[in-house]
Amino acid sequence: MQPGRNPKGATPRSPGTRAVHAGHPPAADGQPLLPGPELASTYHLAGASDASRYGYARYANRSAVQLEVALGELEGGSALTFASGMAATAAVLLGLRAPRVAVIAADGYPGVRQIAADRLPGAVEVRLTASRTAEVVAAAPGADLIWIETPSNPRLDVVDIPAVAEAAHRAGARLAVDNTLATPLGQRPLELGADLSVVSATKSVGGHSDLLLGYVATADEELAAALRAWRDQTGAIASPFEAWLTHRSLATLDLRLERSSANAAAVAALLAARPEVSDLCHPGEDPVARRQMRRFGPLVGFALRDAGHAQRFLAGCELVAEATSFGGVHSTAERRARWGTDAVPEGFIRFSAGCEDPGDLLADVEQALDAAAA
Ligand SMILES: *Cc1c(COP(=O)(O)O)cnc(C)c1O
Repeated sequence: MQPGRNPKGATPRSPGTRAVHAGHPPAADGQPLLPGPELASTYHLAGASDASRYGYARYANRSAVQLEVALGELEGGSALTFASGMAATAAVLLGLRAPRVAVIAADGYPGVRQIAADRLPGAVEVRLTASRTAEVVAAAPGADLIWIETPSNPRLDVVDIPAVAEAAHRAGARLAVDNTLATPLGQRPLELGADLSVVSATKSVGGHSDLLLGYVATADEELAAALRAWRDQTGAIASPFEAWLTHRSLATLDLRLERSSANAAAVAALLAARPEVSDLCHPGEDPVARRQMRRFGPLVGFALRDAGHAQRFLAGCELVAEATSFGGVHSTAERRARWGTDAVPEGFIRFSAGCEDPGDLLADVEQALDAAAA
């Protein structure tokens, strides 16, 4: 089936429509629209080892391959799924030719810096920068890998992807963008000039807080082949059940993002009017975000006075679960400093808006703020 074609052969225009149909097999009487998970490790394979694409599931499983077709279509490249976002991240950092100089935005997902510090060969120079376009661009000369996350996490700083891609390519470096927060329905890094788009589908793409999965998308077939070889050798593959669940979730991704992004913007507006709130972060007013993003995502960051004040707020919410991670249908929030991995004040909260009714969610946040302030 051709990417971008729905089962009736028309070309869907909107990303939301593509997400509903992407990766589904051609219509055939008696077959399901999206086949269920293919629970197989080994397949009938007579004669030559390449008699079928499907021989042993560490190399290929239909549930993962169908999902990869869908994700590749949405990202605009080839997609390879992995067991988790970190397995996808490790494939890019460790599975490609080792960089000599890597530029890594330091206020993104901590696992990236941890791999860079603990697992890259000692000779690799790692340059940590803030998630600011000018700083990343200034660090680019001499680098061969640049890793950014935009919007970054948890401060939601926005980096100009085309500007950094230009600087990266001028330096002869590859640009990898962690696209977890935005998802391909919120932002398409490959179209904006990145070489690799890396996503933890555990977050908004999966969206129901019930699976772990990651993927890497690239339009460069050499990079895709190298990543596939790494995955074949290390076995960091997605399970067929998680792959199927993720594919099933893609159909509602645009709906979920539309509601959760609107809820996040409404929570940010409510917080902006509260005197006890500081450090409010939301990408919606950023001119670069407005240029390169289609949806702004579910996250809002803000600080209350101290750890106690933040914990009282979290305990007072009825609809918002105190939990880590983000991008699920249920609203969640946590005090980020409890992990000790991010440079944020003790009272800083990362709030992930879910798909609840906006009026109910705002009323709950407001009553919890009132109760915590009293
Ligand atoms: C969660 C996350 C990861 C890691 O993904 P896992 O699925 O937990 O392994 C990487 N990057 C970002 C931005 C994340 O939020």
